Amino acid sequence: MRATLLVVLLALAGLAAAQPVAPLPYDHILRHAELTNLLQQWVGERPNLMKLESLGKTPKGREMWFLTITNQASGPAEEKPAIVVDGNMHATEWAGGVAALHFVHKLLDGYGSDERVTRLLDTRTVYVLPRMTPDGVDATLDQGRFIRSVDRPYPTETPQPGIIPKDVNGDGRSVFMRYRDPNGPWKEYAPDKRLLVPRDPDETGGDYWRVLREGMIEGYDGATIADEPEHEALDFGANFPGDRGTTVSQTDGPYPTSVPEVAAYVAAISNRPNIVAHVTCHTFGGLVLTPPVNLGEDMPEPDRLVYATLAGKAAALTGYNAISYLDLRSVDREKQIPSAFGWLYDRLGLYSFITEFWNPLTAAGISLEKTTASAWLWGFHPVEDEIKLLRWSDQHLDGDGFVAWRGFDHPQLGKLEIGGFDLIRYWYNIPFDRLEREVAPHSEWLVYLGLSTPRLSVRSFTAEPAGEGLWRLRLVVENTGWLPTQGSQMAVDRQSVTGMNVELKLPAGARLVQGAAVQQLGQLAGRTTQRSTASWWSYTPGTPDRAIAEWIVAAPSGAAFSAEARHERAGNARAELVISAKAD
Ligand SMILES: [Zn+2]
Repeated sequence: MRATLLVVLLALAGLAAAQPVAPLPYDHILRHAELTNLLQQWVGERPNLMKLESLGKTPKGREMWFLTITNQASGPAEEKPAIVVDGNMHATEWAGGVAALHFVHKLLDGYGSDERVTRLLDTRTVYVLPRMTPDGVDATLDQGRFIRSVDRPYPTETPQPGIIPKDVNGDGRSVFMRYRDPNGPWKEYAPDKRLLVPRDPDETGGDYWRVLREGMIEGYDGATIADEPEHEALDFGANFPGDRGTTVSQTDGPYPTSVPEVAAYVAAISNRPNIVAHVTCHTFGGLVLTPPVNLGEDMPEPDRLVYATLAGKAAALTGYNAISYLDLRSVDREKQIPSAFGWLYDRLGLYSFITEFWNPLTAAGISLEKTTASAWLWGFHPVEDEIKLLRWSDQHLDGDGFVAWRGFDHPQLGKLEIGGFDLIRYWYNIPFDRLEREVAPHSEWLVYLGLSTPRLSVRSFTAEPAGEGLWRLRLVVENTGWLPTQGSQMAVDRQSVTGMNVELKLPAGARLVQGAAVQQLGQLAGRTTQRSTASWWSYTPGTPDRAIAEWIVAAPSGAAFSAEARHERAGNARAELVISAKAD
């Protein structure tokens, strides 16, 4: 009877494991309702691996879905070291959210068949916030225009004079408007009249154009158009706690975590002290960015070496360029700017990374050897590069990257043309037929990153006689991970991590004679400093990854002891032993 039941249960378990995980679509971007359905479906398919919760509702009432992914049978999530991955901190950067979801799907689908994924979920926890700004993403999909984080007016509700970007001709995109103006700064480029190039300094009497973003003009006086103000200036990435910088800007909000979505995420990370590393998925640039952000921000030597290894692996897998945020900045490097790194790395000591997926310049075969991507974007490039972009759009995107100029009767400006490069779909996002291929190597890196975290383990737990009815108990604990238990040196310097403690639990009838039940054992090294055996200076000798706790107890034969080692960032490890008279 019992055996039959067991067979049935095993068969059910086998069926459950064999049930496929619903695929993630790559031919469109999911609106919030479809995302919700998919996540709920995934939880139903792998309830043992994934937990779905909401961090709260956005101002427009959308749930902020947060996923906890681990093999619950091998221990609770909070007792394992963790990484946290987020997507769509910026509304228009759809592919970042797709990358986060691709990783989730890889974990759910690969558990049990992919050895690395299985090991990751058996020994570590993965947290994922796939969409930090659900309001923002749906707004960009609905309105077809660029929105930084969310379409909430800030710093003022009152529209300021200037262009309010919107899709005015109803083609679902918000691109550019051009109209003839004898004093315009642009002229058509003769070899390909879709492109506009600057009018020469000494040039007059030609066919000149003025270019604006597609939209309506607020406060138009019939002659002058104000420089475009930021109508929705909030940048979630600048609203984290930590150093706010000294640059005057409206992007960071009135005070840290004033943005409800940021406050919810910051609380979620704060409440999970097992997090060791963080990755935020953005577009575009083909970059893996690390701290520092500002001049004068120090990084301890051990962390610099760890970052070099981890980001180097990301670059090797993705083909992206691993550099510091500071090295990316080409203008105003002296300005102190706020960034989420200021809290995640500089305060908490989490290894934090920004991945900028996709580089249309690389895709189009444009060489950045003699320049930098950011200099290019500031307009310092030859027109031939733009021809390459156009040709690539024509040949590989069916022309979808550039909207052909088409006549339109603008209510304020009269007859003009609407068209130009589609910055949202071409620049900020990966063409759908390349999307999965572009994000897949990054998910492989996230598995590697998770497996690099520290992991406490009990090496041995033994008893030997220590006199009449007395026993010496010895617990040997080790860190089997690559990173040290503290994760980063910054965490130690900032006192944002505590050390390991071990606790002996006494059974009834046993008594502690020597040694505290709870003992503090500090930090254990990983393998990060073991670089080479070719010299005396390139490795750490001995067993810096190991520590011992000892107790003397009075106990009768047959007494069962348990011991637990705990480290907030390196996980928990337990062991049991039964005192046996045979030991002497
Ligand atoms: Zn971004």
